[in-house]
Amino acid sequence: MRILVVEDDKNLNRQLKDALLEEGYAVDVAFDGEEGHFLGETEPYDAVILDIGLPIMDGISVLEAWRRDGHKMPVLLLTARDRWSDKVQGIDAGADDYVAKPFHMEEILARLRALVRRAAGHASNEIICREVRLDVRGGRVSVDGKAIKLTSHELRLLSYLMHHVDKVISRTELIEHLYDQDFDRDSNTIEVFVGRLRKKLPNDFISTVRGLGYQIVKD
Ligand code: CA
Repeated sequence: MRILVVEDDKNLNRQLKDALLEEGYAVDVAFDGEEGHFLGETEPYDAVILDIGLPIMDGISVLEAWRRDGHKMPVLLLTARDRWSDKVQGIDAGADDYVAKPFHMEEILARLRALVRRAAGHASNEIICREVRLDVRGGRVSVDGKAIKLTSHELRLLSYLMHHVDKVISRTELIEHLYDQDFDRDSNTIEVFVGRLRKKLPNDFISTVRGLGYQIVKD
């Protein structure tokens, strides 16, 4: 899952990025509204953390512009404490959730998990496909009730495919959603990760749809 953080406070931006990386997300960052707006228009994010008070273009205007142009990714707004008018304006502009500053990082992470999950149509933190169970919190995976150990790259890949169960996911889509913009985007890398992941999962759990991509079938 690839997340965009738009926050002009350098320290806070860094803290958010580190916490998200720790959780296994791919992360891009922007420090002003214009840069953030551009990235959100051009890159496919699974969710965005967007500060309201930003230089050049404020967060509400960024969000309105995205929604006007049909970008539907979940957006979590960061608002100043006690500014109820910000919250109302933010929700009217198309925000999916908000957190008031100062916040606990855990709250941001929990709300983000919920947004990503809901956007993919899952109601709970556990996604179950056949004999494989993924607990989105903490990224635990088990097969037939037995825990298996995955690298962070394998976990990202499995998590993306399981969030989009039954859909055929192309290599390009995987590359776009699993890596930040600085990553060397070689589609062979994806094949290598899929190959390694397959060895840890039941036979045929991840199927290859020739010429189109990969798919996990629910039942
Ligand atoms: Ca700010």
